[in-house]
Parts: sequence; structure tokens; C-alpha cells
Amino acid sequence: IIEFKNISKKYDDTPVLKKIDFEIESGKFYTLLGPSGSGKTTILRMIAGFEDPTSGEILFEGKRIDLTPANKRPINTIFQDYALFPHLNVSQNIAFGLELKKMSKTDIQAKVAESLRMVQLSGYENREIDALSGGQKQRIAIARAIANEPKVLLLDEPLSALDHKLRKEMQVELRALQQRLGITFIFVTHDQEEALALSDQIFVMNDGRILQSGTPVDIYDEPINHFVADFIGESN
Ligand code: ATP
Repeated sequence: IIEFKNISKKYDDTPVLKKIDFEIESGKFYTLLGPSGSGKTTILRMIAGFEDPTSGEILFEGKRIDLTPANKRPINTIFQDYALFPHLNVSQNIAFGLELKKMSKTDIQAKVAESLRMVQLSGYENREIDALSGGQKQRIAIARAIANEPKVLLLDEPLSALDHKLRKEMQVELRALQQRLGITFIFVTHDQEEALALSDQIFVMNDGRILQSGTPVDIYDEPINHFVADFIGESN
């Protein structure tokens, strides 16, 4: 569904992505795994359309997408800090993007209810954002994203603000949700355990390059070099 062809990115004169090539298939859970500064977020931002490549092409369903503005891409993003509107309640937060699309009030109500059901927060429509726990806020951010029926959902370290127990629970939920929706998830993390637990396919990154791409078992059993072996072997 997404293809990066020979993508490079420089900020000023500093290269942060170096001739990246990869293909993302529809309906799978992908993880970009690598240390801080390796370029993971930059890749997500390019898929979302918040950043342009310095050179190379990005294809979506076989067509160039790197020239399409962010709001015209069938792609939604969930950030670490949730990015919810604190002055709007739960329902208004989820409805916001749907109103922009001129969906009818009845359809919006149904969509809000369905999205809340998906994240197991049915009945939370009128709650204020400030009155929610961290895990609930993250679920609302997920509900808002899936209400837009994206083909691809980008998740940039969405669980890193949560405590250990909740993080484990949300990992299980995210994986179940991805399988239920059947859409492509691209998840960014520097936590190798999280990557191994969640993914169909992992891209291990370092210093602007994808060092290895494979299933969790491939990467765990046959790391391609010392860096991948050490990184996967580390425990947090
Ligand atoms: P983290 O896990 O810390 O978020 P990351 O792997 O997601 O790291 P990126 O955020 O993609 O890494 O950053 C890759 C490199 O690009 C870093 O060295 C970063 O300092 C640099 N960088 C990112 N955004 C900008 C920017 N807007 N201007 C200049 N340099 C940037």
C-alpha cells in the first residue's frame, strides 16, 4: 500500500534518512524500531505529509503521494501526547474531523458511538478530556483517528506516557484493534519488547538507515549484524 523509493532527507545539510527503500503491505502491523534520532519519526511525518523528502519517491497504492497535501491523504496519525482538544468533550473531539467532512449529525453520532465501542469506552460521549486518565485519553485519540476510516494509521510512540501495566494492556488492545479493523498500522517505538510483541513486520533502524526488515522471529533469531543483535537483546 505504501512504497518508499530511494528516499533521502536532509535538515539543512545534515542527512537524517539515507536512501531508504521499503514496502508496506495492506492490513499488517508494522513497527519502526530504533534508538532515538535514528529517523523513525521523520519517516512517519513523510507518510503523513508533514515533511517532504529531499529526494526519492513515495507511492501510495502505486501512485505518487509525496506531492499530495497531508489533509488529502487517507492516513491518520496518533501522537504520544494525544493531541486532543482539552476544551471539547469526548464526543466533540471525535466529531471534529467528521464535521469538516460535512457528515450529517445522525451519521456523526453513530460514528462516534461506534468508535468509542471499538476502544471499549462506550457511553463516554459527554466526558470532559481533563477528567480522563492517561490510558482513556489515549483510547479517545485512537477512537478519533479510526472514526475517519483511514487506510493507514500511524502511531508515534503512543504508549510511552503510560505506566508499565497500562502500557502492556494497551499493547494487547492495539494489536486486537488492528486485527479487528484489518487496516495497516505503522507504529514507532524504541522499545524492542514492544516491537516484538506487537508486529507482523519490524524495520530496525539506526542512523538514517533500515538495517533489517523481518518478522519478530526473523529478527530475534537471525539478527543481521551486531547492532541489531545488541539492540534486540537489550532489556529495558
Ligand atoms: P526519537 O525516538 O527521539 O523520536 P527518531 O528515531 O524518531 O527519534 P527523528 O525524530 O526522525 O528520530 O530524527 C532524526 C534526526 O533528525 C535527529 O537527529 C533529529 O535531531 C533530526 N531532526 C528531526 N526533525 C528535525 C527538524 N525539524 N530540524 C532539524 N533536524 C531535525
